[in-house]
Amino acid sequence: MQLHNYIAGQWVAGTGKQAELTDASTGELIATTSSGGLDFDAMLKYGREIGGPPLRKMTFPERGRMLKALALYLMDRKEEFYQVSYKTGATKADSWVDIEGGIGNVFANASLRKQLGNMPFYVDGPPVLTSRGGTFMGHHIMVPKEGVAVHINAFNFPIWGMLEKCAVNWMAGMPAVVKPATVTSYLTESMVKAIIESKILPEGALQLIVGSAGDLLDHVDSQDVVTFTGSATTGRMLKVHPRIIAESVPFNMEADSLNSIVLGPDAVPGTPEFDLFVKEVGREMTLKCGQRCTGVRRILVPEKLVEDVQIAIGKRLGGTVIGDPRAEGVRMGALAGPTQRKEVREQLAKLMKGSELVYGDPQQVSVTGADAEKGAFISPILLLNKDPWKNRVSHEVEAFGPVSTLMPYTDLDDAIAISKLGKGSLVATIATYDNKHAQQFVWGAANHHGRMLVLDRDMAKENTGHGSPLATLVHGGPGRAGGGEEMGGKRGVLHYLQRTAIQGTPTAITALTQQYQQGAKQNITAKHSFRMHFEELNVGDTVITEKHTVTLDDIDKFADLSGDKFYAHMDENALDGTIFTGRVAHGYFILSRAAGLFVDPPKGPVLLNYGIEEARFTKPVYPGATIQVKFTVKEKVDQEKKELKEDSPKGTDIASGIVKFLVDVVDETGETVAIATILTMVRKLDQG
Ligand code: NAP
Repeated sequence: MQLHNYIAGQWVAGTGKQAELTDASTGELIATTSSGGLDFDAMLKYGREIGGPPLRKMTFPERGRMLKALALYLMDRKEEFYQVSYKTGATKADSWVDIEGGIGNVFANASLRKQLGNMPFYVDGPPVLTSRGGTFMGHHIMVPKEGVAVHINAFNFPIWGMLEKCAVNWMAGMPAVVKPATVTSYLTESMVKAIIESKILPEGALQLIVGSAGDLLDHVDSQDVVTFTGSATTGRMLKVHPRIIAESVPFNMEADSLNSIVLGPDAVPGTPEFDLFVKEVGREMTLKCGQRCTGVRRILVPEKLVEDVQIAIGKRLGGTVIGDPRAEGVRMGALAGPTQRKEVREQLAKLMKGSELVYGDPQQVSVTGADAEKGAFISPILLLNKDPWKNRVSHEVEAFGPVSTLMPYTDLDDAIAISKLGKGSLVATIATYDNKHAQQFVWGAANHHGRMLVLDRDMAKENTGHGSPLATLVHGGPGRAGGGEEMGGKRGVLHYLQRTAIQGTPTAITALTQQYQQGAKQNITAKHSFRMHFEELNVGDTVITEKHTVTLDDIDKFADLSGDKFYAHMDENALDGTIFTGRVAHGYFILSRAAGLFVDPPKGPVLLNYGIEEARFTKPVYPGATIQVKFTVKEKVDQEKKELKEDSPKGTDIASGIVKFLVDVVDETGETVAIATILTMVRKLDQG
């Protein structure tokens, strides 16, 4: 069988020399593949011209709903992918990380639709108020780039590697070209086929290269984004590609790194942290046969405990059943192929120059349900580097398999310094039940690690693990790890958007951001906003309320009702040395009384008020002051109608949207005394 590339809406077989792809456990030929004869220039143009425009037009909520539909669709078909995944040497647990972890990433990104606003672009951060007169201001918007996201991926997570990146670029409104590593590209291809069959994405949103990248990078331009996941050697070479430099193409690199785990000084044998540490190391070494960019490569333990740890890890590894992942009881599968095993052995030979072998045999392993030589099997290998300051090879060489090196440290500062010898990693863990140790390690070493985990008894059950980057947290690391930053929820999406500063009057900036900016022209409406449905409200619509004169009696009654008898409200004689010149009204009273002014009580389209944001009390209000509210539609956020289930709360089926109102409470001088944003849910006219 020959794999097909997906280019310009067609499945195309590559010409010329074919790569042979084999089952990692049996060595049997699965497929051949090539990307020969493909026109990469045309592929990128197709993405830019056909895939980009419909994606850019969609709002964030629309893109999010598209991703959710895709994730649900793929989850329904997951069994197909598991069957293919076994051929990569992955066990069920390994495949779960790749397949359901990847789909989970799409779900997580789909949920971002609630955080990114209602438009096809994102309004970034707070406004910048620049002029004294209030007629000139600045802000930032972030708009989707007009290019293609080109993803060059590593072989170890053929599905997760694609989905963790594509979910983010689709959410941002960019199409993708995915180039998985050739050796496991058959698994990526099986999922791309399903995605294309689903017809959930617009045409051109996804194209696939199964084979070499050829001259792909010669055709990228300044609106494209290139991401790379793989070895530091390949990454560095691609990063300086002349076209990447000439066109200033953003290049996000995630490379291999020599991640470390530290046994805290308090985590001695007999403590839960010692056991958790041993378990975590065992899991990290064997999961995915050690082919994880985040895998533990360096194990740092107090010098007195080296022997205890060595014995405990050895015992744990000894219980791991290795073999064909389809065979009963197997816990560790094979490397992705014979080339990968050859590379691991070569790297191991380098590592062993500074370390001794304390567990495993690089040349031999006994396996279940397979032939150890025909399949790409290898034993877990534990090395011991007795002098990590002298034998630096452990901090320089990665063997991308089940290989880790144990090394002693003298005190925690020494452990921090040793962890930094890796010159930048994706993740570092400390097992400790002492927050002082956790602080010392994390504060001392964070500048060298992209993510840090504090492992202890209290989080053990829910711990997702040293090696698992979370969709909503940043993944990436400094230095050797590539200097990249992926995922991270909203942060990930922003990589695919162009941040542009916008300057003008508050009215112009309101029009550009579709968020009301203070000082912008208001549209005073005859009809109260509470009488209008979601579709009828416009940003800038304003209600000017009746007035209320604050009295001492108000303050006393509010103090009684709320129980808040803080001296500044109650005791005239206690105000010396404060900023107050008399008994001041409670800020909460001002906001509550403001609600009494801006709320239009009879039943209408406003369903509920569910919160207040950014509330500030900006000027003391004394008895005698007269307050009034300018109540302005600040922002509208569309909401999808929730699916009705049997136990759905009442009202779930009402189509509604969120309307944020700016509550500007002014006194008789016109100055703002309190300001807040309230969040309301407003019924739509269209209940369809
Ligand atoms: P690799 O050999 O560097 O290959 C990575 C990708 O680059 C593959 O798709 C490969 O395609 C492609 N490539 C190679 N030469 C290229 C060229 N001249 N032009 C364009 N593309 C080129 O790495 P790998 O062996 O697949 O993966 C293992 C490494 O990845 C490990 O070192 C691991 O630590 C690292 N990794 C890092 C992360 C992370 O997030 N930081 C995640 C996973 C893996 P072909 O397969 O067609 O050669």
